[in-house]
Amino acid sequence: MNIKSEQEMLEFGRDFAKDLTRPAVIELVGDVGAGKTTFVRGLAQGLGIKEAVTSPSFTISKSYALPDGGRLVHYDFYRLPEPGLMEDDLIENINDAENIIVIEWGESIADVLPKEHIKIEIKYTEEGREIIK
Ligand code: ADP
Ligand code: MG
Repeated sequence: MNIKSEQEMLEFGRDFAKDLTRPAVIELVGDVGAGKTTFVRGLAQGLGIKEAVTSPSFTISKSYALPDGGRLVHYDFYRLPEPGLMEDDLIENINDAENIIVIEWGESIADVLPKEHIKIEIKYTEEGREIIK
């Protein structure tokens, strides 16, 4: 699927929210600037979250209350090659079936992700971005 602009990525995220059943663990794969966080912004909008979603690259995780209970928990492990206690936090949040978990740069915690988790890959193309599922 071709995504030509930031707006289209937000729309893709909003659409993705409509079909999402819980519990959900989504791994986002793509280079720096590919649009992973932009996708999460759209996803949050589609889930009815009013708060602005910003990158958790410095805080490692950010979490937002979902209107009907549970939380959207957004992780970015880019700056944390040794996940340590953050791995325990992630496992706890994955184990709450009301939550939706989204992870950027999840290589270091790959072994704690459920085998059937959703993986979305975003690639740069000449026209924008390509979504590979
Ligand atoms: P990541 O989280 O993957 O590092 P971000 O979502 O933070 O990436 O940043 C993506 C940047 O690329 C944003 O500044 C966005 O405006 C820009 N951009 C340009 N074209 C696109 C596109 N087709 N899809 C997503 N983002 C795009
Ligand atoms: Mg990001």
